[in-house]
Amino acid sequence: MPRLVVFSDMDGTLLHAKTYEFEAALPAIDALKARGVPLVLVSSKTRAEIEHYRSILCNHDPFVVENGAAVFIPKGSFPFLVEGARELAEEYLVLELGTQRARILEALGRASCALGVKFLGFASMDDAEVAERTGLPLELARLARAREYDEPLVLDASMKKSFEQLRACLAKEGLRLTQGGRFAHALGPNDKGRAVLSLRSLFERLWPECSSVGLGDAQNDLPMLNAVDIPFVIPNPWVDQSALACVPRQRRALHIAPQGFTEAISDVLSEVS
Ligand SMILES: [Mg+2]
Repeated sequence: MPRLVVFSDMDGTLLHAKTYEFEAALPAIDALKARGVPLVLVSSKTRAEIEHYRSILCNHDPFVVENGAAVFIPKGSFPFLVEGARELAEEYLVLELGTQRARILEALGRASCALGVKFLGFASMDDAEVAERTGLPLELARLARAREYDEPLVLDASMKKSFEQLRACLAKEGLRLTQGGRFAHALGPNDKGRAVLSLRSLFERLWPECSSVGLGDAQNDLPMLNAVDIPFVIPNPWVDQSALACVPRQRRALHIAPQGFTEAISDVLSEVS
């Protein structure tokens, strides 16, 4: 059987976009495990949040946090030296591609003074406020606040002009402002595509003939979908998916997450088994 590696977004792709349910994705996750296909979670979520889901899903594969800011590789994943990686605690090697959050917060502070506008971000919210704004339970809101490389900012339609000015201020410092489903994100030069390409090259060293599959639902998945052999778009009626129309060779699930995730994995596995 040809080797496969699956790279998947989480919110709106594996998890329901509003309720975060994932039960309907479990049969597909089990099918991947049974065939020895790695499932690499690639999310804007924090390391703490992804570790929470990896534990529930019994997932032991590498994962990508905060929109490609860092790639965490459980030790022993690859039988060779991973260049550029540093050891983190007992468990992981980490490839850091993003900018430390402390630097991002400093730049946001400077921009806020220069523009005379206050931007509301996770740094000035407590767990309860993040829970209210995201719909997450309090415990998961706490994990979502443990950001290392990115600052989510409340998107307010009345501040559209201020956000454009903020984007220009951040660009001068080598930082970016992207729009997610619920928040704008101030972050470094990282994206999901660069992180996926670095992991893909490691898997290709392990299995030279392997094919890569990517699953995503939103604009921030575009670089990841462009970095894989088989890109799959999962429908999400709550986000603007127009940016994904340009992905070549794309396939599209019929259902939203989590059913759409299982549908996409079944489709891919039916071709290789
Ligand atoms: Mg998503």
